[in-house]
Amino acid sequence: MTNLAFYINGQWCEPLTSRQSLPVINPATQTSCAQVWLADTADAEAAINAAAEVFEDWSNTTLEQRIVMVEAFLKSYQRRYQVMASAITEEMGAPATMSYDMQAETGVGHTQAHLLAAKQAVLEHTMGEQGQLLKEPIGVCVLITPWNWPINQIVCKVVPALLAGCTMVLKPSELTPLSAQIFAECVHEAGVPAGVFNMIHGTGQTIGDCLTSHPRVDMVSFTGSTRAGSQIAISAAPTVKRVSQELGGKSANIIFADADLASQVELGVQACMLNSGQSCDAPTRMLVEASVYAQVVALAKTAIDATQLGDPQQSGDHLGPVISEPHWHKVQALIEAGIDEGAVLLVGGLGKPKGFETGYYVQPTLFVDVNNNMTIAQEEVFGPVLVLIPFTDEAEAVRIANDSPYGLAAYVSTQDIDKARRVARQLRAGTVHINMADLEYCMPFGGYKQSGNGREYAAFGLHEFQETKVIAGYY
Ligand code: NAD
Repeated sequence: MTNLAFYINGQWCEPLTSRQSLPVINPATQTSCAQVWLADTADAEAAINAAAEVFEDWSNTTLEQRIVMVEAFLKSYQRRYQVMASAITEEMGAPATMSYDMQAETGVGHTQAHLLAAKQAVLEHTMGEQGQLLKEPIGVCVLITPWNWPINQIVCKVVPALLAGCTMVLKPSELTPLSAQIFAECVHEAGVPAGVFNMIHGTGQTIGDCLTSHPRVDMVSFTGSTRAGSQIAISAAPTVKRVSQELGGKSANIIFADADLASQVELGVQACMLNSGQSCDAPTRMLVEASVYAQVVALAKTAIDATQLGDPQQSGDHLGPVISEPHWHKVQALIEAGIDEGAVLLVGGLGKPKGFETGYYVQPTLFVDVNNNMTIAQEEVFGPVLVLIPFTDEAEAVRIANDSPYGLAAYVSTQDIDKARRVARQLRAGTVHINMADLEYCMPFGGYKQSGNGREYAAFGLHEFQETKVIAGYY
């Protein structure tokens, strides 16, 4: 099995000195489907230097030239769409239909939305009586991404960075290098000049510090756990680089008594379970008005009982496994904490589901009568686990929803739109969904509190990679 290579200065290359590699494990079969080289600091330096050397040239291209390049990338991506979807299924276990309709689709949707934002962007304008305001590329960027929505995260960093005029080093998750490899091939095929986009594989442990503390790097855009995000901010602090963080979540889903319970509870359960619970903005805490609590418990149980598990290679709306063995154990430990702390386990629980002994499958799990102070209500599980917490009135619902170290997303279900809007305004979260309305590609995404400080997607994504300059006395 050949190791997946790095892409530096327009060339596919092997590590300079490292001889370490990592198997890519298909989480449904527990077998190795590829091997990836792991970079050391020599490779990280080479990639950063390649990006730094061409920054001046690339930042001086016009926005129109960069738009043409990204449009060429999109064509290449669309040509390889099926290959991309299959790679995501293989490397992280997202079922085929979900990989095709959702995971791979985010690459198209986000690229189109960023292109539209770039076409509408105003990069300079007059200011005051004699000034000119300029939006300039911030410089050399390090882009670090997770495995759970692998191509979504890569596209939401690389595409706006390219459009803004930045040069970059991408370090995708070492667990999902297959989709990253296809992505890099599409960038290459689009004719993006050598050095503008570079990609190395590796772990946070071996190259994280070098990438995030390097004096030639102007910005780190990171998506991943709050633990790693905070380490990266510390590592980046001495060089005062911009650090944009998109981190974890424990999002509340407030179900009021006057909601359309049958549809909203089912949609809430499905959104929590999607991607085997491995979405940062999953509505994992369902807060339920006491007067309809028994009814919602029954509806949630029915919805979770109906959740099917299955082989990711098959089409259908079943769930696949979670990403890895260590992650499976982490999810089990959190389910155990829920049981130990006295939450009532209504569906699922510990151990592999019957018939799924091979693969990192987790039983879709429902805890009821949960207290918001319990570990299972405070910590991100990142598995198919839903907790139900009762509340008595609107004020208590808002208090419990906001009683979390995280603030990524929140959900409110009620047929009273005034109440929905009033509550949405009080929730400390970057995105609030009323009656499970979808986030659109043109809307910003990011968190409050320990869910991060960045905003990605479309115009907000572009803005992240820009510096603001004003020239006084220009006129
Ligand atoms: P992770 O933090 O373990 O890893 C994310 C990436 O960071 C990987 O590429 C990893 O190699 C790298 N990394 C780890 N430690 C590092 C360090 N010290 N320095 C530099 N790089 C380092 O997260 P994960 O397990 O891959 O992803 C799951 C997490 O990501 C969840 O917490 C989830 O909520 C979060 N997430 C957030 C968003 C968002 O937009 N807010 C989106 C997706 C996932």
